[in-house]
Amino acid sequence: IKNLIIFGTRPEAIKMAPLVKDFQKHFDQFDTKVCITAQHREMLDQVLEFFEITPDFDLDLMKPNQNLYTLTAEIITNLKPVLEKFQPDYVFVHGDTTTTMAASLAAFYAGAKICHIEAGLRTFNMHSPFPEEMNRSVTGVVSNLHFAPTTTSRDNLLRENKKEESIIVTGNTIIDALLFSVKKVNSNDFIDAEVVKLKTILDPNKRLILVTGHRRENHGQGFINICEALKAIALDNPGTQIIYPVHLNPNVQKPVYEILGNIENISLIAPLSYPAFVWLMEKSYLIITDSGGVQEEAPSLGKPVLVMRDTTERPEAVDAGTVLLVGTDKEKIITETTRLLNDAQAYEQMGKLHNPYGDGEACSRVIDYILKLNNKP
Ligand code: UDP
Repeated sequence: IKNLIIFGTRPEAIKMAPLVKDFQKHFDQFDTKVCITAQHREMLDQVLEFFEITPDFDLDLMKPNQNLYTLTAEIITNLKPVLEKFQPDYVFVHGDTTTTMAASLAAFYAGAKICHIEAGLRTFNMHSPFPEEMNRSVTGVVSNLHFAPTTTSRDNLLRENKKEESIIVTGNTIIDALLFSVKKVNSNDFIDAEVVKLKTILDPNKRLILVTGHRRENHGQGFINICEALKAIALDNPGTQIIYPVHLNPNVQKPVYEILGNIENISLIAPLSYPAFVWLMEKSYLIITDSGGVQEEAPSLGKPVLVMRDTTERPEAVDAGTVLLVGTDKEKIITETTRLLNDAQAYEQMGKLHNPYGDGEACSRVIDYILKLNNKP
């Protein structure tokens, strides 16, 4: 059985890496090849190195002033020879990026069976200024198999009349990646320059609040509110340390450095590689973020998460109570953070909740399903 696994950005790489590794362990049953579009070059390479994955095809499509028209067109055109050469039975794509959508179209033209990992997430807001809902919906339309992380995502797909037997609930592969990574970063022979540096920044006598934020919907007043809230939290709680790896987008950098640049217990640092970030998540007391992936990871480490968004395509975490939506409302961010810092019982309870995103066995469920479909034991 020939598999082609295609991805282009860091979050996709993190979530596809354990699948690549598991498929490669079954080399007697599968010929698995990896194609990267390199929509995000540098961050992607770091993840591949950590998971020890060498791509078989590298389209290397990151260009200065990239736009969605040329990126979409180039992904489709550059995948043609790859698909024609390898002739995969199955093409695996992940999530909701331009790579996901364009690669699934190319795979459709090639007549391969399309497998969508992390299928069925929906905001139900197709005509927002951002393409993610369109990307995941279009991929859903052309996919043969939908590997849904949760029953909520399965239900979204059923509502779109996808066939029941085409939807497989697996949990999210990010938990598979996280458990692998936690083990690796804590092993004795793991040496990482970023972790060494973090150890010099981290104050062991303080409780760590880890912050990340990048979403375009928060650019502008959103980030200003977030920063003002963080400033107030840091000043009111000298026993805490805020570490914030700041996204490189100038719309994020400007308010963050202007408002938080000179506060003693706030460390603004460069974005971290995935292993260093995992290492720091484990050391944190709580996490404040607008990232999708971090919301899925943190409950597996027992860390409460405050989510700086008003809407979410991940309602499971809100329902399970593992995350709290605080939007970009300054007072709300301050109130909920203060509560988690001061109310030990509420804090402990939140950290003990079951992670609705999975148990670390998502990839083996995908592989078992493909084997079963092909009548292999
Ligand atoms: N992450 C990382 N370094 C950082 C911040 C986040 O490696 O400085 C990881 C994080 O653990 C998660 C993923 O990147 O697995 C999330 O990516 P991001 O927040 O960029 O995207 P989203 O999940 O919102 O699509």
